[in-house]
Amino acid sequence: MEIVDLRSDTVTQPTPAMREAMAKAEVGDDVFGEDPTLNRLEALAAQRVGHEAGLFVPSGTMGNLAAVLAHCQRGDEAVMGHLAHTFLFEAGGISALGGVFAHTLPNQPDGTLRLEDIQAAVRPDDPHHPISRLVILENTQNRCGGAVLSAEYTRQAAELAHANGMKLHLDGARLFNAAAALGVPASDLAAPADSVTFCLSKGLCAPVGSVLCGSAEFIRAARRIRKQLGGGMRQAGVLGAAGLVALEQMTERLSEDHRRAQALAAGLGRIPGLVLDTEHPASNMVFANLAAGVTDNAAQVVERLRQQGVKVGAVGARRFRMVTHYWITDEGVERAVKAFGSAL
Ligand SMILES: *Cc1c(COP(=O)(O)O)cnc(C)c1O
Repeated sequence: MEIVDLRSDTVTQPTPAMREAMAKAEVGDDVFGEDPTLNRLEALAAQRVGHEAGLFVPSGTMGNLAAVLAHCQRGDEAVMGHLAHTFLFEAGGISALGGVFAHTLPNQPDGTLRLEDIQAAVRPDDPHHPISRLVILENTQNRCGGAVLSAEYTRQAAELAHANGMKLHLDGARLFNAAAALGVPASDLAAPADSVTFCLSKGLCAPVGSVLCGSAEFIRAARRIRKQLGGGMRQAGVLGAAGLVALEQMTERLSEDHRRAQALAAGLGRIPGLVLDTEHPASNMVFANLAAGVTDNAAQVVERLRQQGVKVGAVGARRFRMVTHYWITDEGVERAVKAFGSAL
């Protein structure tokens, strides 16, 4: 039985074109700056997001961490949403390794932080306070259902940060999903920020890697930090080759994943045991809760789905997350809806 794996877009396998490009990749020692494939990937990535330079990193987590370490000193404060990936899911790295203090603000249901909240969070210049150094936004916003932040909002947040002597980092793990959802180039969404990370390894299907982008000067600093973190990777062009295919071939098709997320939400919305956050997901994620009358918990339902070859994430005692991606077909969506129907 073929498995329909909706747990995350991180489960995506490399495409046949990626495997071929990886096998043929021209490589060199990237710590010496001599890997031609990675150099091409970093240049293309920077161009696609409207920044000067790029840095290939093993994960989005390392990209965000290197960015925070490059922007902040120990004891500085970074403002971010209470549902930010950097706050929830990066093992506290910015504090553990950077001594950076996280100041969380409520994420609104649309994924934004209210500009008034950001302004109010800025610390006065007073020795009692940490120094407010950085604002972090996330686009798409994972825990807000894959919500999409507009270019205009990002520009306003950047202006506000800059007016207060702060920088803006954009965690754009799914930046190209946001761009596809809005029908704008990724650079419209990322150029206002001082730095941006995006993942090659999610909806774009590459096996490994993210790219951190920013000014040439910023990336020089981040490159040293990547080395400190153990992220200097030698003949990493083998990975970068898949990343190039990801950027060249996989960004345009993300709207198909969004269309399937809509179809999945429409199908699940008809199942009485489920209550969806929305039947019109903004990008490639569908969140659903068990209806009040259902006595089983999410883990039990997930197990019954698994027996039918459908894998879904339980992200709470009564809550599910499903993510569409390249390897989820229309038929897979139908099978998932049917499986829920019989599991509940
Ligand atoms: C996946 C993700 C990251 C980074 O994840 P890695 O697994 O470390 O590559 C960062 N931010 C968001 C919003 C994510 O979804």
